[in-house]
This record gives sequence, C-alpha cells and structure tokens, in this order.
Amino acid sequence: MIRSAVVVGAGVGGLATAGALARTGWSVTLLERADRLRPGRAALLLWPNGIRALRALGLGAGLDAIATPVPPAGLRRPDGQWLVQPDRTTDGRGGPVVVHREDLHDALVAGLGDKIDVRTGVEVRTARPAGDRPSVSDGRATWEADVVVAADGLDSVIRRRLAPATTATSGGFAAWRAVIPWYRVPPDSGRLSADSSDRSGPRASPGGPGQSPLRPRAADAPHLPAGTGAAGEVIGAGLRFQHASLGERGSSGASSRGGIYWVATVPGARRPERPEAQLVLLRRWFAGWPAPITELLAATEPDDLVQDPVAELRPMPSSFVFPVGIGGYALVGDAAHAMTHHLSQGACLALEDAATLQALLLDAIPGRNLGDRLAAYSQDRRPRVVRVAQQSRRIGAVLQERGRLLTRARDMALGTLAPRLLDRASAGAADWRPPAR
Ligand SMILES: Cc1cc2nc3c(=O)[nH]c(=O)nc-3n(C[C@H](O)[C@H](O)[C@H](O)COP(=O)(O)OP(=O)(O)OC[C@H]3O[C@@H](n4cnc5c(N)ncnc54)[C@H](O)[C@@H]3O)c2cc1C
Repeated sequence: MIRSAVVVGAGVGGLATAGALARTGWSVTLLERADRLRPGRAALLLWPNGIRALRALGLGAGLDAIATPVPPAGLRRPDGQWLVQPDRTTDGRGGPVVVHREDLHDALVAGLGDKIDVRTGVEVRTARPAGDRPSVSDGRATWEADVVVAADGLDSVIRRRLAPATTATSGGFAAWRAVIPWYRVPPDSGRLSADSSDRSGPRASPGGPGQSPLRPRAADAPHLPAGTGAAGEVIGAGLRFQHASLGERGSSGASSRGGIYWVATVPGARRPERPEAQLVLLRRWFAGWPAPITELLAATEPDDLVQDPVAELRPMPSSFVFPVGIGGYALVGDAAHAMTHHLSQGACLALEDAATLQALLLDAIPGRNLGDRLAAYSQDRRPRVVRVAQQSRRIGAVLQERGRLLTRARDMALGTLAPRLLDRASAGAADWRPPAR
C-alpha cells in the first residue's frame, strides 16, 4: 500500500520531516514557496537533544564534519566582570555544537534522497479537506495526501486556518545573527582578553549541557582539544551578545564555512532600518563591551546581518494534529511552536518533531492505525514544547532584565540562584531521547 504525505515548507523542520518519511517508505511531495531550496543564513546551536534527533533521523554521520563543540563559557557583564565563571573542569564535549546553516541545510537536502517530488515556487494559500483527505492549494493546483505536514514556519497559513485562536506575537526583542568569515576576524577575537575578566566573580556554573547558552573561552580557560571552538556571552541592561567559533582559524576544519558566529539581542520590536543603519545602531549599543564584541562588530559588514523575528505563538495550538478522514494535518517546527530564541532550541525541537513523526509513522497504515499515531505525535510533543517555551520566556526575562535596580539584583543573584536556573532550563530542554522505533 502506498502511503502519501505532502510536506509544506523546506526549512529545517520540513526538510527533516520530508526526508524521514521518504526513508520510511512514504511517497512524499515537498512544497516550498521560494524559487529553490535555500538555506537559512548564519549559524545555529544544536543542543544534545537536537544532535540525538539528527542521529535518530540517520543524519548523524556527517555531523562531526560540520559541527564545532561550544566550550564552557560563563557569563560576563559589559564591564568584563564575571557573573558566572566558565567551568574549567570540562572541555564542552557533550554540550552544544555550533553549525553553519548552509552545512546543516546541505546535510538535510542530502537526506531527502531522490524519491521525493520537490516543487519550489509553490506558495500554499489554503488548507481544506478534500473529501476524507487533507489537502492544500496554491490557488492553481491542489495536493492531497494521507498526511499533510505543515512546516511552513512562524506565519504558517495552514496553522492559521486550523488553529485560528493562535497568533504569532512579538517576543519583545530584536535579534541579529552573523557569521564573520575567518579572513575578516581580527586576530584573537575568538578569545577574551585576560585583563577584561575579573576572577573574583561568583562561582563557576556546573558542567554538562546545563551551562549558560554560549560560553566564552577565557584566557585562563582549560586547554581545549583541537576542533573545539571559542565562545562567550555578555549580558547588560536588556542587551545580550553571544559568540561562538565555527571551527578554528586556518584549519580545514570542522566547518567548510568557518568563522565566528554571533547573536545580538536587544529589547524592542524588529528594526525597520536598512542594514547599514542597523549596524550603526548595533555598534553604538555594544560600544565599550569587552573583547571580542566591539572587534566583531567592527569586522561585520551590513550584508552579514540577518535579522529574524523574535516571536512566539500565543496560545500554542491546543493540538498539533487535525484529523481528517483516515489521516490528517500535522504541525511541525515553528508552525507548531515558535518560541523566543533564549534557549536556542527552535530548530532542535523541529528536528525532534521530525524524529518523532518518523518513529510513529514508520509502520502506520491509513485506515488502521494512522489516526492513532498522529494523535500520539501531538500527545508526545505538545507538553514538552510548552515547557521549553515557558522556560525560554523565563530565561529571556532574567537575562535581558532592563531596569537598573532589577539588573543589579539580577547580577547579584546570578552568582547563586541563576546558574541553577539557567542550568535547569538548558538541561531540561536538552534532556530528550527519541522514541523507540
Ligand atoms: C535570533 C535567533 C537565533 C536562533 N538560534 C537558534 C539556535 O541556535 N538553535 C536552534 O535550535 N534554534 C534557533 N533559533 C530558532 C530556529 O531558527 C527556528 O526555530 C527554526 O529555523 C524553525 O524552522 P522551521 O523549519 O520550523 O521554519 P522555517 O525555517 O521558518 O521554514 C519554513 C519554510 O516554509 C516556507 N514557507 C512558508 N510559508 C509557506 C507557504 N505558504 N507555502 C510554501 N512554503 C512556505 C518558507 O519559505 C521556509 O522555507 C533561533 C531563532 C532566532 C530568531
């Protein structure tokens, strides 16, 4: 029996799900509105849960070639003082890795195989059941299947049709990402300058995946094995700057697209200016911040800047599945659960969605157990992503506190309470295992 799926959207979630279903014997059509399959820009952190999901999807083999471990980094203030010192007892192995989005995209496209019917330049406009099967249409053609997977991102038209009470709401931040290629990175920008760090600061954050999201390599950090990058995180009143290196300068390396990846987050709405003006603002906001932040911003060119909306779904859809006849629609990735980026988990969760669908739909048969398997997908995924979204919101509120008194209180608390809060949030999010197949 031929089982059919239509996947709408070729981002991380759609590519991973389309490949997973095709590899498990489904006949898959992938619809993407762009004129070709395009990678997102800049880079991503993959936490251990995202790495496990990639491995469960059978895409782990190439990961070592494109991923750079993020070493323990700690957390500093804009004056260079430590809020949380880096843990010097671990080299970061077993924690997150950083990958260039083009490298991840290539791995996911390679995982599509040659059996998928890929249609680009197709913008889905409606989602309406056709008889007893789910279907989508771009106004000219209609595609129907046993399962329609909505992987069409934050502004998903399919979700808007099926879960109209859910809206994409601003997370209250603007964020930029960039990768500065090695040839433009000033020497030493992967490290902190020794004199900018205050070693009398609060205690180190414990090791393991529960460390603060991007962790700087201090001048006195442990010697790290070749292939381990440098990283850092600095927070001020409302502002946050994180960086991590993709591979090592001059190495043929972990990533074919090496350099330094940075993320800057500021309070407020998405900025409407041209990239040149945005870069001027970024340099002004982060002026005087410790090395290598000002150096990285000085080396950044307007075309490097990627500004993505920081938004979340409120309320999250009450189900990620909408049954139709013997099958139905399933939401994955940002279409189901877009959240703020404070825990760097959105793409990892999209990969988890794909791995979960792969396991549940492997031997699902329309008319026999497909409906139950789809229901199980929603029951499995929703409670977990609701928890991660709440944690991300909480961490965002703590890390990007704006008021002067509250910032001071936060900085004092970061010495004791907050490392545990950060560790628990990051460890909780990273603690996921793929369902048994
Ligand atoms: C500043 C920032 C930093 C982040 N850092 C990290 C990180 O380090 N780690 C991490 O795991 N996550 C991170 N994230 C989150 C992550 O980027 C997203 O969660 C993830 O990319 C979502 O993937 P997706 O496939 O669900 O959606 P998308 O990437 O949005 O893909 C949707 C696709 O659907 C297509 N599409 C849309 N509408 C239609 C339509 N009507 N018809 C046909 N096609 C359509 C689009 O063209 C696109 O290709 C970050 C987010 C931000 C904002």
